[in-house]
Amino acid sequence: MCYNLIVSYNDKMIIYESKLEGTKDQYERLNNAIRTGLFVRNSIIRAWIDGLIKSRNDAYKYCKVLADNPEFPWARLLNSQARQAHAERAWASIERFYRNCASKIQGSKGFPKFKKQQTKASAEYKISGWKLSDDRRYIEFTDGFKAGSFKLWGTRNLHYYQLDQIKRVKVVRRHDGYYAQFLIDHKREENKELSGRQIGLDVGLNHFYTDSNGFKIDNPRFLRKDERKIKQMQRRLSKTQKHSKNRAKARNKLGRAHLKVSRRRNDWVCKLAQRVIQSNDLVAIENLKVRNMIKNHCLAKSISDAAWVRFREWLEYFGTVYGVPVITVNPNYTSQNCSNCGETVVKTLSTRTHKCLHCGYVADRDENAALNILKLALKELVNTVGHTEINVSGEIPLCLNVETQSSKGTRRKRKA
Ligand SMILES: [Zn+2]
Repeated sequence: MCYNLIVSYNDKMIIYESKLEGTKDQYERLNNAIRTGLFVRNSIIRAWIDGLIKSRNDAYKYCKVLADNPEFPWARLLNSQARQAHAERAWASIERFYRNCASKIQGSKGFPKFKKQQTKASAEYKISGWKLSDDRRYIEFTDGFKAGSFKLWGTRNLHYYQLDQIKRVKVVRRHDGYYAQFLIDHKREENKELSGRQIGLDVGLNHFYTDSNGFKIDNPRFLRKDERKIKQMQRRLSKTQKHSKNRAKARNKLGRAHLKVSRRRNDWVCKLAQRVIQSNDLVAIENLKVRNMIKNHCLAKSISDAAWVRFREWLEYFGTVYGVPVITVNPNYTSQNCSNCGETVVKTLSTRTHKCLHCGYVADRDENAALNILKLALKELVNTVGHTEINVSGEIPLCLNVETQSSKGTRRKRKA
């Protein structure tokens, strides 16, 4: 039995994932469901642009309009609640756009885009349109696409939950196959002994992080290796002819390689995050702007950035599970200020040691930054206690659009 992921959704939900095993014809039917979900989403966006939809409720109503339209016979094949789920997704992107406009953020406001067909896509069901077998080893999709029954790989854990705890089921298509994700209403809580330790973490280019005790975690070596491999495959892809069979093959290979990298990375950061949370009573991290991080084109940098983003998500998840506050602070000046006296000591990126001219304090550059992060977090904690909830950083995704932790052991080769 393969072990299958748990992923952070928020503190009240967990997600399990298992691979779906079926026939080629069944996968084709899932493709149709996925395509229809995309169609619903894009139609809602179109109707919103045309001024036909002005609220979430309008979006729900529009689902019925789509299903009743004889021009789109496929729309009514998708389960009605699934249609609504896709309408919710569309509306979420519209709302995000409104929110960005209202908060007057700089640059792009994220005007809702029409989504194109691509390999990574999904269809989302709520509590109908699917059925689990009594032994919970099979799932059957019962809506108009008649995809039928699929064997689930690695679902042993589903036995621990009541059926009514499963709030959504999402069919995800990836380069290496089809998966079902189960969103389960379950609060996970673990007991943890107090350690009497608090920690601040500084992300660096040279190390994955440096903590406020001067301890460094190196970037895992496999990231470099994977990077080389991906580059090689990208070159191969670019040498193939457009619309050729070889190109499709090369694209699939590259997609699988990317999946492998992200799974390995996720596995690594997940374990690291759990260790950090288990051995500390408070964790302070920088609030790096994800938007700015993702934009860079350097592959090595983007891989380590992605690792950091996932690491932070896992820290926050395990933080709620073990009752350890994870506090994010503004990263400005954390590397420039002296953690001992607070004075500013200007240094360039190449200066690796912090030497304070004011108080004589000498420390590793990153350790000094980590100490500043911890101090800022404690200050923030004092200011926010009694006012608002702490441990709020990063948005909780409205729908399930996280890539989940590795499902290990694909036993047979399947074609996407
Ligand atoms: Zn100083």
